[in-house]
Amino acid sequence: MKFGGTSMAGTERIRRVANIVRAQAARGDQVAVVVSAMAGETDRLVNFCREANPLYDPAEYDVVVASGEQVTSGLLALTLQALGCKSRSWLGWQLPIHTIEAHAKARVESIDAEALIASMEAGEIAVIPGFQGLSEAGRVTTLGRGGSDTSAVAVAAAIKADRCDIYTDVDGVYTTDPRIVAKAKKQKAVTYEEMLELASVGAKVLQTRSVGLAMKEKVRVQVLSSFIGEGAPPADDLPGTMIVSDEEMDELVEKGLMERQLVTGIAHDKNEAKVILTRVPDRPGAVANIFEPLAAASINVDMIIQNVGRDKGETDVTFTVPQSDLARAQALLEDRRGEIGFNRIITDSKIAKISVVGVGMKSHAGVASSMFRALSDRGINIQAISTSEIKISVMIDEDETELAVRVLHTAYGLDAKD
Ligand code: ADP
Ligand code: ASP
Ligand code: MG
Repeated sequence: MKFGGTSMAGTERIRRVANIVRAQAARGDQVAVVVSAMAGETDRLVNFCREANPLYDPAEYDVVVASGEQVTSGLLALTLQALGCKSRSWLGWQLPIHTIEAHAKARVESIDAEALIASMEAGEIAVIPGFQGLSEAGRVTTLGRGGSDTSAVAVAAAIKADRCDIYTDVDGVYTTDPRIVAKAKKQKAVTYEEMLELASVGAKVLQTRSVGLAMKEKVRVQVLSSFIGEGAPPADDLPGTMIVSDEEMDELVEKGLMERQLVTGIAHDKNEAKVILTRVPDRPGAVANIFEPLAAASINVDMIIQNVGRDKGETDVTFTVPQSDLARAQALLEDRRGEIGFNRIITDSKIAKISVVGVGMKSHAGVASSMFRALSDRGINIQAISTSEIKISVMIDEDETELAVRVLHTAYGLDAKD
């Protein structure tokens, strides 16, 4: 069972969580619980690091930001004890949860789960802070923002859990962010592949890596709400959204429990920034010169367009990077101005990426053209386009994000009928 930041925000809410955990244990299950820091806490800690040293050392950043989860794991164990349950916390370094060295964006390599399993078999409810791990060098690491989802899936895989229930502040995965579109529909099931794509383009209900890991380790993941009343159905009755294999989805469709849909969901991402390099030489090697230094600095480039060449063998190159990496990217490119041979760097953080995801696209034409038409009918200008087998993304002005998501939700017939 994993509980996110909103579910853990304050002792009152932690008591609610403890009651849900106790009810699950009372059904005869051995339970491990992974918790996030209280909502807002990680942001607060990140700000402290920025204030202390704008060019902070990621290893010390991890020491600071991992502390939020230490607090909530101890508090949940204490609350469970107050309810008469046996419970203890297991910090990342105590298990340990081994991760790679990459501070602030570490990946879980393995978890030593013997002691954890023994304690669970002895009737103790295990509480594990999410987000944190231990590097080979013996230092605290964190898994990137939203990383508690990945901690939960990794723990579930390590203890061979029957299910990994991700409790959050919405009751499942919707056709789009229900906070933007009131008519978004809850899905009974979503395939791993679709969830992976949705998460990677901004549906933050699950961290992308957690979905990839669940797919690889075949962990059964359910997304459901922790804000439930006494009479709510138990998690075992699958009240939330199950992440399922393609085969399971086919079965659900055959049984009439799911409809086959062309588009599963729409996601938005406001965390990218656009970079334009003007008058880059239009010859072999020019683009490699731009992207090699960015790759070497672990800066992920997402959308790329090379404009039609101008006269004199020159072209403009436009691409996006995470906003948090924009300053670094700009500095790296400036350093190599001579080598790359561009004229100006123009940047813009006020952009958003809107993506339409669905496996149905593999076999259906026309999904992209209806997206472009729906956006143009509302006067929304598309600045860049990228596609994969099951996704189409467009870059637009950030101010038009909510409008674009709503328009597309209606255009693909996803609006709930009250
Ligand atoms: P937690 O703190 O529990 O990890 P998050 O804030 O990370 O919760 O993720 C839950 C939020 O994800 C929801 O409050 C919702 O606004 C947002 N969200 C974005 N896209 C979707 C979607 N397609 N379905 C459900 N929630 C979504
Ligand atoms: N507390 C961390 C964050 O806010 C991890 C998480 O909640 O998943 O990013
Ligand atoms: Mg989250």
